[in-house]
Amino acid sequence: MIDIHEDKKQSESWQEAKPEDALMNIKQLLMLAINGLDVCDDYCGSRERLGQENCFCVRANFPTQDHYFLYLELRAIAKKLAAFALTAELSKGTNNTTKEAKEPTKRKTNYEI
Ligand SMILES: [Zn+2]
Repeated sequence: MIDIHEDKKQSESWQEAKPEDALMNIKQLLMLAINGLDVCDDYCGSRERLGQENCFCVRANFPTQDHYFLYLELRAIAKKLAAFALTAELSKGTNNTTKEAKEPTKRKTNYEI
């Protein structure tokens, strides 16, 4: 169980931390943006008191709050890209069906020549 005061203290220094003083692996940040961050399930005392953006599960993954906000922006882009890729994949499937339907016609033409 986390000490309430200690949790709040850690949260405050985390919020005040400057991103230029704390490095984060860009690959790690991108992987989180692609896969999403695992946050606390069910009830979380830290989230309850300090909010999701200050919860210890968030603080455990990002060196500063600015990194977390950057993650949120990248995550929104990643979701849009995933939706775009899915749409492209689905329309590709439709095109393949059309292509296959055209193929017998092509063969017929070759045979005739
Ligand atoms: Zn949490």
